[in-house]
Amino acid sequence: MKVDLHTHSTYSDGTDSLDDLIFKCRSNGIEYVSVTDHDCIGGTKDFLKKATSNGINAIPGIEFSAEHPTELHILCYNYDQDDPVLNDALNYLLDERKTRIVKMMRLLQDDGFRISNEELQELIGNGVPTRPHIGQLLVNKGYCRTVKEAFERYIGVGCKYFVKKGILTKEEIFSISEKASGTTVLAHPAKIHEPDFEKLLRKLLDLGLKGIEVFYPIHSDRECSYFMSIAERYGLIITQGSDNHGTRRNTYLGKETRGNENELLMASVQKLFRK
Ligand SMILES: [Zn+2]
Repeated sequence: MKVDLHTHSTYSDGTDSLDDLIFKCRSNGIEYVSVTDHDCIGGTKDFLKKATSNGINAIPGIEFSAEHPTELHILCYNYDQDDPVLNDALNYLLDERKTRIVKMMRLLQDDGFRISNEELQELIGNGVPTRPHIGQLLVNKGYCRTVKEAFERYIGVGCKYFVKKGILTKEEIFSISEKASGTTVLAHPAKIHEPDFEKLLRKLLDLGLKGIEVFYPIHSDRECSYFMSIAERYGLIITQGSDNHGTRRNTYLGKETRGNENELLMASVQKLFRK
Protein backbone atom coordinates (compact mmCIF):
# COMPACT_ATOMS: atom_id res chain seq x y z
CA MET A 1 0.00 0.00 0.00
CA LYS A 2 1.57 3.31 -1.08
CA VAL A 3 0.83 6.17 1.28
CA ASP A 4 1.94 9.80 1.47
CA LEU A 5 0.02 11.89 3.97
CA HIS A 6 2.32 14.89 4.11
CA THR A 7 2.85 17.06 1.07
CA HIS A 8 2.70 20.74 0.21
CA SER A 9 1.47 22.50 -2.90
CA THR A 10 1.76 25.97 -4.40
CA TYR A 11 -1.07 26.96 -2.04
CA SER A 12 1.63 27.25 0.65
CA ASP A 13 5.37 26.92 0.12
CA GLY A 14 5.57 23.95 -2.27
CA THR A 15 6.41 24.29 -5.94
CA ASP A 16 4.00 21.58 -7.17
CA SER A 17 0.58 22.64 -8.43
CA LEU A 18 -2.37 20.39 -7.58
CA ASP A 19 -2.14 18.90 -11.08
CA ASP A 20 1.59 18.23 -10.58
CA LEU A 21 0.74 16.39 -7.37
CA ILE A 22 -1.91 14.28 -9.09
CA PHE A 23 0.57 13.48 -11.86
CA LYS A 24 3.20 12.46 -9.29
CA CYS A 25 0.67 10.31 -7.38
CA ARG A 26 -0.17 8.53 -10.60
CA SER A 27 3.40 8.00 -11.71
CA ASN A 28 4.52 6.82 -8.25
CA GLY A 29 1.43 4.65 -7.77
CA ILE A 30 0.39 6.48 -4.58
CA GLU A 31 -2.99 5.24 -3.44
CA TYR A 32 -3.58 7.29 -0.29
CA VAL A 33 -2.61 10.95 -0.14
CA SER A 34 -3.29 14.18 1.72
CA VAL A 35 -2.16 17.70 0.86
CA THR A 36 -1.10 19.36 4.11
CA ASP A 37 -0.35 22.96 3.24
CA HIS A 38 0.79 25.27 6.04
CA ASP A 39 -2.11 27.17 7.63
CA CYS A 40 -4.12 26.90 4.44
CA ILE A 41 -6.85 24.74 2.93
CA GLY A 42 -7.26 26.76 -0.28
CA GLY A 43 -6.37 23.83 -2.50
CA THR A 44 -8.25 21.15 -0.59
CA LYS A 45 -11.61 21.04 -2.39
CA ASP A 46 -10.05 21.08 -5.84
CA PHE A 47 -7.48 18.48 -4.92
CA LEU A 48 -10.10 16.09 -3.54
CA LYS A 49 -12.09 16.40 -6.77
CA LYS A 50 -9.04 15.81 -8.95
CA ALA A 51 -7.97 12.85 -6.83
CA THR A 52 -11.40 11.22 -7.03
CA SER A 53 -11.54 11.54 -10.78
CA ASN A 54 -8.09 9.92 -10.98
CA GLY A 55 -8.97 7.02 -8.69
CA ILE A 56 -6.70 8.21 -5.87
CA ASN A 57 -7.90 8.20 -2.24
CA ALA A 58 -7.50 11.64 -0.68
CA ILE A 59 -8.60 13.36 2.53
CA PRO A 60 -8.40 17.01 3.60
CA GLY A 61 -5.16 17.88 5.41
CA ILE A 62 -3.39 20.88 6.91
CA GLU A 63 -0.18 21.49 8.86
CA PHE A 64 -0.22 23.90 11.80
CA SER A 65 2.84 25.29 13.58
CA ALA A 66 2.42 25.50 17.33
CA GLU A 67 3.99 27.94 19.74
CA HIS A 68 6.84 25.98 21.30
CA PRO A 69 10.55 26.56 21.99
CA THR A 70 11.42 24.23 19.09
CA GLU A 71 9.70 23.23 15.85
CA LEU A 72 6.37 21.64 16.77
CA HIS A 73 4.02 20.91 13.90
CA ILE A 74 0.57 19.38 14.10
CA LEU A 75 -1.03 17.75 11.08
CA CYS A 76 -4.81 17.71 11.02
CA TYR A 77 -6.79 15.39 8.76
CA ASN A 78 -10.33 14.90 7.55
CA TYR A 79 -11.73 18.03 9.16
CA ASP A 80 -14.92 19.77 8.15
CA GLN A 81 -13.67 22.30 5.60
CA ASP A 82 -16.61 24.64 6.20
CA ASP A 83 -16.27 24.78 9.97
CA PRO A 84 -16.46 28.48 10.99
CA VAL A 85 -13.97 28.17 13.89
CA LEU A 86 -11.39 26.60 11.58
CA ASN A 87 -11.96 29.23 8.92
CA ASP A 88 -11.70 32.10 11.43
CA ALA A 89 -8.37 30.70 12.63
CA LEU A 90 -7.12 30.36 9.05
CA ASN A 91 -8.09 33.98 8.33
CA TYR A 92 -6.18 35.10 11.41
CA LEU A 93 -3.10 33.11 10.35
CA LEU A 94 -3.30 34.47 6.81
CA ASP A 95 -3.46 38.05 8.11
CA GLU A 96 -0.44 37.38 10.32
CA ARG A 97 1.50 35.96 7.39
CA LYS A 98 0.58 38.90 5.13
CA THR A 99 1.56 41.52 7.72
CA ARG A 100 4.85 39.76 8.45
CA ILE A 101 5.80 39.41 4.78
CA VAL A 102 5.04 43.10 4.12
CA LYS A 103 7.25 44.06 7.09
CA MET A 104 10.10 41.84 5.90
CA MET A 105 9.85 43.20 2.36
CA ARG A 106 9.96 46.78 3.70
CA LEU A 107 13.08 46.05 5.76
CA LEU A 108 14.81 44.59 2.71
CA GLN A 109 13.68 47.42 0.43
CA ASP A 110 14.77 50.08 2.95
CA ASP A 111 18.21 48.47 2.98
CA GLY A 112 18.55 48.78 -0.79
CA PHE A 113 17.33 45.40 -2.07
CA ARG A 114 15.68 46.08 -5.41
CA ILE A 115 12.69 43.79 -5.02
CA SER A 116 9.07 44.85 -5.40
CA ASN A 117 5.87 43.69 -3.76
CA GLU A 118 4.39 43.10 -7.22
CA GLU A 119 7.21 40.69 -8.10
CA LEU A 120 6.64 38.88 -4.84
CA GLN A 121 2.89 38.63 -5.47
CA GLU A 122 3.60 37.04 -8.84
CA LEU A 123 5.51 34.27 -7.07
CA ILE A 124 2.83 33.82 -4.42
CA GLY A 125 0.03 33.48 -6.97
CA ASN A 126 -3.10 32.21 -5.26
CA GLY A 127 -1.20 30.73 -2.32
CA VAL A 128 -0.43 32.06 1.15
CA PRO A 129 2.67 34.30 1.41
CA THR A 130 5.65 32.50 2.94
CA ARG A 131 9.33 33.23 3.53
CA PRO A 132 10.45 30.85 0.75
CA HIS A 133 8.64 33.18 -1.66
CA ILE A 134 10.87 36.06 -0.53
CA GLY A 135 13.83 33.68 -0.70
CA GLN A 136 12.92 32.75 -4.27
CA LEU A 137 12.62 36.43 -5.21
CA LEU A 138 16.09 37.10 -3.76
CA VAL A 139 17.41 34.21 -5.86
CA ASN A 140 15.63 35.45 -9.01
CA LYS A 141 17.12 38.90 -8.47
CA GLY A 142 20.63 37.55 -8.05
CA TYR A 143 21.08 38.36 -4.34
CA CYS A 144 21.79 34.74 -3.53
CA ARG A 145 22.09 31.42 -5.30
CA THR A 146 19.57 29.30 -3.42
CA VAL A 147 16.55 29.78 -1.18
CA LYS A 148 18.56 28.00 1.52
CA GLU A 149 21.24 30.65 1.25
CA ALA A 150 18.56 33.36 1.47
CA PHE A 151 17.41 31.82 4.75
CA GLU A 152 20.95 31.61 6.10
CA ARG A 153 21.93 35.14 5.17
CA TYR A 154 18.76 37.22 5.24
CA ILE A 155 15.42 35.78 6.24
CA GLY A 156 16.00 32.87 8.64
CA VAL A 157 15.33 33.09 12.38
CA GLY A 158 17.79 35.53 13.95
CA CYS A 159 18.71 37.16 10.63
CA LYS A 160 18.49 40.89 10.05
CA TYR A 161 15.31 40.76 7.98
CA PHE A 162 13.45 38.09 9.95
CA VAL A 163 10.12 39.18 11.42
CA LYS A 164 8.14 36.97 13.78
CA LYS A 165 4.52 36.19 12.99
CA GLY A 166 1.70 35.29 15.33
CA ILE A 167 1.00 31.57 15.51
CA LEU A 168 -1.43 29.42 17.47
CA THR A 169 -0.80 27.81 20.81
CA LYS A 170 -1.01 24.03 21.13
CA GLU A 171 -4.27 24.43 23.04
CA GLU A 172 -5.77 26.54 20.26
CA ILE A 173 -4.74 24.10 17.52
CA PHE A 174 -6.30 21.11 19.28
CA SER A 175 -9.46 22.96 20.14
CA ILE A 176 -9.87 24.17 16.53
CA SER A 177 -9.23 20.66 15.19
CA GLU A 178 -11.73 19.18 17.59
CA LYS A 179 -14.43 21.68 16.69
CA ALA A 180 -13.82 20.94 13.01
CA SER A 181 -13.94 17.16 13.72
CA GLY A 182 -10.36 16.70 12.53
CA THR A 183 -7.86 14.03 13.54
CA THR A 184 -4.57 15.42 14.84
CA VAL A 185 -1.18 13.82 14.22
CA LEU A 186 2.20 14.94 15.53
CA ALA A 187 4.39 15.74 12.50
CA HIS A 188 8.04 14.60 12.21
CA PRO A 189 8.53 14.08 15.97
CA ALA A 190 12.30 13.68 15.67
CA LYS A 191 12.53 17.30 14.56
CA ILE A 192 11.17 18.54 17.89
CA HIS A 193 14.41 17.72 19.74
CA GLU A 194 12.56 17.45 23.03
CA PRO A 195 14.71 16.27 25.97
CA ASP A 196 11.72 14.51 27.57
CA PHE A 197 9.67 13.46 24.55
CA GLU A 198 7.15 11.35 26.44
CA LYS A 199 6.33 14.17 28.81
CA LEU A 200 5.49 16.42 25.86
CA LEU A 201 3.57 13.60 24.22
CA ARG A 202 1.42 13.06 27.30
CA LYS A 203 0.57 16.75 27.34
CA LEU A 204 -0.42 16.58 23.68
CA LEU A 205 -2.50 13.45 24.35
CA ASP A 206 -4.36 15.35 27.08
CA LEU A 207 -5.09 18.02 24.51
CA GLY A 208 -6.49 15.46 22.05
CA LEU A 209 -3.59 14.15 19.94
CA LYS A 210 -4.59 10.99 18.07
CA GLY A 211 -1.54 10.02 16.06
CA ILE A 212 2.13 10.29 15.27
CA GLU A 213 4.03 10.55 11.98
CA VAL A 214 6.34 7.56 12.32
CA PHE A 215 7.66 7.15 8.78
CA TYR A 216 9.37 10.34 7.62
CA PRO A 217 12.45 10.69 5.40
CA ILE A 218 14.86 12.11 7.97
CA HIS A 219 13.82 9.69 10.73
CA SER A 220 16.44 7.00 11.21
CA ASP A 221 15.28 3.37 11.36
CA ARG A 222 15.89 3.52 15.10
CA GLU A 223 13.70 6.59 15.45
CA CYS A 224 10.95 4.93 13.39
CA SER A 225 11.03 1.90 15.73
CA TYR A 226 11.00 4.15 18.79
CA PHE A 227 8.01 6.18 17.58
CA MET A 228 6.29 2.95 16.56
CA SER A 229 6.69 1.59 20.09
CA ILE A 230 5.33 4.87 21.48
CA ALA A 231 2.30 4.58 19.16
CA GLU A 232 1.65 1.03 20.34
CA ARG A 233 2.06 1.95 23.99
CA TYR A 234 -0.37 4.89 23.81
CA GLY A 235 -2.78 3.42 21.25
CA LEU A 236 -2.08 6.03 18.58
CA ILE A 237 -2.61 5.85 14.86
CA ILE A 238 0.54 6.23 12.78
CA THR A 239 1.17 7.98 9.47
CA GLN A 240 3.78 8.19 6.73
CA GLY A 241 4.73 11.32 4.81
CA SER A 242 7.45 12.71 2.57
CA ASP A 243 6.97 16.44 3.35
CA ASN A 244 7.31 17.03 -0.38
CA HIS A 245 7.82 20.71 -1.25
CA GLY A 246 8.53 20.17 -4.95
CA THR A 247 11.94 21.56 -5.82
CA ARG A 248 12.28 23.38 -2.48
CA ARG A 249 13.42 20.48 -0.33
CA ASN A 250 15.48 17.39 -0.67
CA THR A 251 12.46 15.09 -0.76
CA TYR A 252 9.70 14.13 -3.20
CA LEU A 253 6.19 12.73 -3.20
CA GLY A 254 6.31 9.07 -2.21
CA LYS A 255 9.93 9.26 -1.02
CA GLU A 256 9.12 7.63 2.33
CA THR A 257 8.25 3.97 1.79
CA ARG A 258 9.31 2.19 4.98
CA GLY A 259 5.71 1.99 6.19
CA ASN A 260 4.22 0.62 2.98
CA GLU A 261 3.88 -2.93 4.31
CA ASN A 262 3.33 -1.98 7.93
CA GLU A 263 0.15 -3.37 9.44
CA LEU A 264 -0.42 -0.56 11.92
CA LEU A 265 -0.03 1.98 9.12
CA MET A 266 -2.57 0.13 7.01
CA ALA A 267 -5.05 0.00 9.90
CA SER A 268 -4.42 3.68 10.69
CA VAL A 269 -4.98 4.75 7.09
CA GLN A 270 -8.22 2.75 6.95
CA LYS A 271 -9.35 4.53 10.10
CA LEU A 272 -8.37 7.98 8.87
CA PHE A 273 -9.97 7.54 5.46
CA ARG A 274 -13.11 5.82 6.67
CA LYS A 275 -14.50 8.82 8.50
ZN1 LIG B 1 5.29 19.82 6.15
